[in-house]
Amino acid sequence: MGTQRMGLFKELGKQVEQFKQDAKSAADEAAAYECAACGARFHTARDDCPDCGADEIRSIDAEAEETTPSESDDSTE
Ligand SMILES: [Zn+2]
Repeated sequence: MGTQRMGLFKELGKQVEQFKQDAKSAADEAAAYECAACGARFHTARDDCPDCGADEIRSIDAEAEETTPSESDDSTE
């Protein structure tokens, strides 16, 4: 008689596992900082890179803003 409850518990575990995988990939995509030396990515600001030790952590967001076309293209016709 307890099989239904066990099945539900099993299903919950599967969802948690899926959630963990989703969260992991989402965190990778949301990484906002990058090591200029080795390209490692982080989602929090760091003083130095845990991978190579370089202190050239730059913000990927700021870079994206720079490449966004704004008033620089001032074509008057
Ligand atoms: Zn690095």
